[in-house]
Amino acid sequence: MSDVVPFADLGASTREVRQAVSRGWAELLDSNQFIGGPATEDFERAWARYCGVRYAVGVGNGTDALQLTLMALAIGPGDEVVVPANTFVATVEAIVLAGAVPRFADVSPDTLLLAADSVAEVLNARTKAVVVVHLYGQMPDMDALARLADRAGVALIEDAAQAHGATWRGRPAGSFGIAGCFSFYPGKNLGAFGDAGAVVTSDADLAGRLRCVRDHGRVDGSHYQHAMLGTNSRLDALQAVVLTAKLARLDGWNARRRAIAERYREALDGGPVRLVAELPGSRGVYHLAVLRVPQRDRVQERLASMGVQTRVHYPTPCHLQPPYRRFADMRLPVAEQAADEVLSLPMFPQMGNDQVARVLDALGKVRAAEEAYVA
Ligand SMILES: *Cc1c(COP(=O)(O)O)cnc(C)c1O
Repeated sequence: MSDVVPFADLGASTREVRQAVSRGWAELLDSNQFIGGPATEDFERAWARYCGVRYAVGVGNGTDALQLTLMALAIGPGDEVVVPANTFVATVEAIVLAGAVPRFADVSPDTLLLAADSVAEVLNARTKAVVVVHLYGQMPDMDALARLADRAGVALIEDAAQAHGATWRGRPAGSFGIAGCFSFYPGKNLGAFGDAGAVVTSDADLAGRLRCVRDHGRVDGSHYQHAMLGTNSRLDALQAVVLTAKLARLDGWNARRRAIAERYREALDGGPVRLVAELPGSRGVYHLAVLRVPQRDRVQERLASMGVQTRVHYPTPCHLQPPYRRFADMRLPVAEQAADEVLSLPMFPQMGNDQVARVLDALGKVRAAEEAYVA
C-alpha cells in the first residue's frame, strides 16, 4: 500500500473557498474595517439564521464563547456548573476560568454524551448551569436535558463546538439552551483561517451583555464608558469573510460526512468493533467518526499498517488531567473506560470514494481479526 488515507485534509476545504475569500479580503483591505463592521455583522446575522435563533455574537474562539457566556450570566465564584467528563478540555477550562466549580457528570455508555439521569445525580443547591457538549457532532436527548434544567431552575448551555448544523428532532444545535457556544477553529466542521468563535441565543438581554463583555465591558455606542467587567474577544472581519464563504458549503460538507459515516457503520454492523451510537432523534454532523473497541491500540496499529490514519479523542478524561483533579471526588467509570477504547477514523468531506473504499476494506479485515480473537 503506497499512499495513506489521512485522518483529515484541511487543504481540500481551503481550496474550495480560496477564490471567494480572496475577493472578500480584497474588499476588506480597501475598507480597513478589521474589527466589527459589515463583514462581521453579515456573518453574525447569517449564523444566527442558520442556527434558528435571533442573535449570534462573534468572539475570539470557542473557549471564550463558553467563558464569556458564563460571565454574561453572572455565573462565577461559589457556583457549580455541571459538565460531562467526556469532552475536550476547553469545556472545563472555561468554567474554571470564569471562577466557577466544574461538577463532572458521567456519560451514557451508548453515546458517550451527557444524559439527564447522570446530570440529576450531581445537581445541588449550588448548581447554576449545565453545559451539554455535542461531542463528535452528535446530540444527546435534548428534550430530557432541557426539561431537567428547566425543573431545576438552572441555565442550559450548549457546547456545540463540534456540532455546526447538527439537529435534535429537526432543531439545530445551539438553539435549545439559553446559549449555544461555537468554535470556528480551522479543523471544525465550519472553520476559519485562524481562531474564531460565536455564541448564539434568542435572549436579547444576554446577547447585549455578550456584546458588552467581548468588548471590554463597553457601553453600547461609547468608547470609554465601561459598564461591566469584560475582556477583548472579538471576531475579526478577515475571519468573518472566511466563515461566510464556508457557510455556503456547510450543509453539503455535513451531508458527505454523514454518508461516509453510514458506510462505516454498515461495514461494522453486528461485529465486535462498533461506531459510537447515534440516538434516533439526533442528526449528527460527524465532526468525528468514533469507533469503540476494547483492544484499541492493537486496532489502531493494524489500521496504520493498512495505510489508514486514525487519532484518539481523547486519551485522558478531563477529570484526570492535573489542573482539574481537585474537582473530581468520584469515579466516572464510563468516561474512564471510553478513553481507553475510542478511536477516530478518517473523516473529511472531500474524502474520495477510493479513500472510503480503502477504509472499508481495512475495517473488514480488522473486524475479522477481532472476531477471531473473541472466538
Ligand atoms: C474545539 C472545542 C472547544 C474550544 O474551541 P477553541 O476555538 O479551540 O477555543 C470547546 N469545546 C469543544 C467540545 C471543542 O471541540
